[in-house]
Amino acid sequence: MTTTTAPPIADLVGLAELGTMPALMRQLSGLAGCTSPIRLDGWRTEINETTGQVLHHLEPADLPAGHLLVRCGNRRTTRCPSCAETYRRDTYHLITAGLVGGKGTPETVASHPRVFATFTAPSFGPVHNRPASGRCRCGTAHSADDPALGSPLDPDSYDYETAVLWNAHVGKIWARFTILLRREVAKRAGLTQREFKDFARISFGKVAEYQKRGAIHFHAVIRLDGPEGGDTPPPSWASAELLTDAIRAAARRTDIPGPDLDGRQLRFSFGRQLDVRTIRGSDFTGAAQITDRAVAAYIAKYATKGAETATGTLDRPVRLLVEIAQHDIPEHARRLIRTCWNLGARPELAELRLRAWAHMLGFRGHFSTKTRKYSTTLGALRDARTAWRRAQTLERLHGPDAPAVDHTTLVLAHWVFAGLGLTRGEQWLAAAVQPAPGTEGEPTRG
Ligand SMILES: [Zn+2]
Ligand SMILES: [Zn+2]
Repeated sequence: MTTTTAPPIADLVGLAELGTMPALMRQLSGLAGCTSPIRLDGWRTEINETTGQVLHHLEPADLPAGHLLVRCGNRRTTRCPSCAETYRRDTYHLITAGLVGGKGTPETVASHPRVFATFTAPSFGPVHNRPASGRCRCGTAHSADDPALGSPLDPDSYDYETAVLWNAHVGKIWARFTILLRREVAKRAGLTQREFKDFARISFGKVAEYQKRGAIHFHAVIRLDGPEGGDTPPPSWASAELLTDAIRAAARRTDIPGPDLDGRQLRFSFGRQLDVRTIRGSDFTGAAQITDRAVAAYIAKYATKGAETATGTLDRPVRLLVEIAQHDIPEHARRLIRTCWNLGARPELAELRLRAWAHMLGFRGHFSTKTRKYSTTLGALRDARTAWRRAQTLERLHGPDAPAVDHTTLVLAHWVFAGLGLTRGEQWLAAAVQPAPGTEGEPTRG
């Protein structure tokens, strides 16, 4: 959003007449650029627990916007660029902490065997691509931004049903892979499953991404730790080579049963393309390896992409199939959505909730997941930021003399959802006070 659009004069005059313009500007600047905040109605009272004195009472009527405004926290760039940027930054810190330490993870994790692996979906039919040889099977040398990339050479023979069902099963596929990986690493170390957990632990952080053809693939940082995770040194036999070898074997063996589709018993496994690279420290610049900083940046970049960025599908749930006819969606994405919709009507596939997740092309998982011992959590980063914002908000409302909230302060609050977004006048003002991207003061800035 920019301030170059004509100001909505009537709305601004209305706001100005309330006589709270400076306070409103302060409230809007607290959103730090969020374009579709959540509006809350309710109250909040702070009481000194010892004396019973009311330190502070807040009601929406006291607030210039008439509501408490909270950042929407949406992960999608297409929905809220500011909140998506915050999510991207948090993911970066989370992955980086697991690679080099920080945010409660010891720096020694940098010496543990670590790899960066990319797992792909199998083929559901040939698609337009840019092979190393230069020419696609259709005979064209496609440019990098050719919208045809990722779409099937022959849409009528492309296996749309298996494609969306693969997306719907990636969570299970990944879960199966992690079990097999533990088994393969243990085998190479000469340990039984039971013994393995006394010696080592496998930690990972991963993100899901859509390929142009609309299939989910995974980027994962996989680390071999001691028995207690990142805090404990890995056993002497642990090496990036052993880990790589075990990942390849486990990925090859990953194979789970899918639904029975009109007499066709589906099975799901990874595609043949599997890329595993050893992660070295930031100072290392070997050809076959990749540095930890590069990995974290790469993973974070994909954390805020939804299906819409890669395939041109919708960024919100489809309510009725007719709805997709009203949007400008590429034919391939449209067929994937329609396939989800049609399969979603089958009772035997009900648990996959394919209609609710049609805009995600069947995928209903989390975009970034990690094992408990990998590093800090998004929640911990969020809490740190909330505490910081809260202090900022109090200062904005009261000036620097805001009462300090300590453990003797009892906070009573009740807030209910009152709506979404900003009025036209507020929008214009919010854009005017919005900091340039990346310049807002955040405790977790990298
Ligand atoms: Zn937002
Ligand atoms: Zn082609």
